[in-house]
Amino acid sequence: MISKRVQGFTESVIREMTRINNQHQGINLAQGMPNFSPPKELLDAAHSAIDGDFHQYAITWGTPRLRRAIADKYRKFYGMEIDPERNVTVCCGSTETMLATLLALLNPGDEVIIFEPFYENYGPGCIIAGAEPVWVPLEPPSFTFDPDRLRKAVSPRTRAIVFNSPNNPSGKVFSRAELQQIADLCLTHNLLAITDEIYEHIVYDGEEHIPIATLPGMAERTITISGISKSYSVTGWRIGYAIANPELSVGIRRAHDFITVGAPHPLQEAAVTALNFPDAYYVYLRESYQARRDLLFGKVEEAGFRAFKPAGAYYILTDVAHWLPEYGCANDHEFAMFLVKDIGVATVPGSSFYSTKELGRTKIRFCFPKTDDMLIEAGRRLQKLRR
Ligand code: GLN
Repeated sequence: MISKRVQGFTESVIREMTRINNQHQGINLAQGMPNFSPPKELLDAAHSAIDGDFHQYAITWGTPRLRRAIADKYRKFYGMEIDPERNVTVCCGSTETMLATLLALLNPGDEVIIFEPFYENYGPGCIIAGAEPVWVPLEPPSFTFDPDRLRKAVSPRTRAIVFNSPNNPSGKVFSRAELQQIADLCLTHNLLAITDEIYEHIVYDGEEHIPIATLPGMAERTITISGISKSYSVTGWRIGYAIANPELSVGIRRAHDFITVGAPHPLQEAAVTALNFPDAYYVYLRESYQARRDLLFGKVEEAGFRAFKPAGAYYILTDVAHWLPEYGCANDHEFAMFLVKDIGVATVPGSSFYSTKELGRTKIRFCFPKTDDMLIEAGRRLQKLRR
């Protein structure tokens, strides 16, 4: 009875692991969401907004105050000149923003290049838009791409390149040189760059996040997607946005209008407070995530995982090829089930981040937006794997 379109969709593996974890009272290092509170000033702002007069629909593409705050923040951080009236569309989280963007800019039959491993929503997003994903691998251990392979993935039907930097799940942060290679291809073949930059403020070891829109010639052809979920620990608020040239923005606004009408008005109002946080907040954010990364990275290595150290975002991708035969597991899925049921730690099987499933069959993803006690307890449980 269900449509051909959704027949191919499976339950999100990330959310499935959260569900299974809840049945086993495990420690949830599967779905990437903080177990600590958002900043108090932000919560206060939300309380004030609820007490205020923000209960009816806001302007479909975002409240003027929020769009202004977004424009100011991009000028301050990246030197980008953004007109809040013409370049910004606020949606329900960056996930809806991505979907609205794909629906607005792709025609059935278009091809979209996506790097794998990828965040699981991009594939279904393209399918809903009738477009065809074409996959280019990011190769471990550094998750770089082969520029030739990328070039060869372009066909006369290619319309866009989608990527996520800092990257979920690999932790890769695209370097300026890599961004330039992508930009050159976009400029030569008249392609759009659609970038998910939701982890923009979570980078380690002095690494720098560079929006591809800041490279020469790219502002006109980039859709920069981000939101407040990860930077301010409010993944459930669902406030995201796209920055794009005025013509593309009109399309994104039209799609968004018919998907959700608008993001929650009081939370848009509160988000203004977050976007105006002083620089010290971002230093604190980076430092506290780097400490969590170091803590969990040490634990998973100690337990015997082969781990790739992330340069950004809040996940650690590991390889467990050496353990699969030992624990009688045929693949990543079975190993993740064993981890949650017998060890008491929920993770995400690596193949859910790959279209070419073999590339993820021995991989397991951990997330670490968690308090130290939880990461330490997870580490203690994982020690059981040492033989
Ligand atoms: N971005 C988070 C993750 O990758 C949560 C995603 C989700 O709920 N699907 O874990």
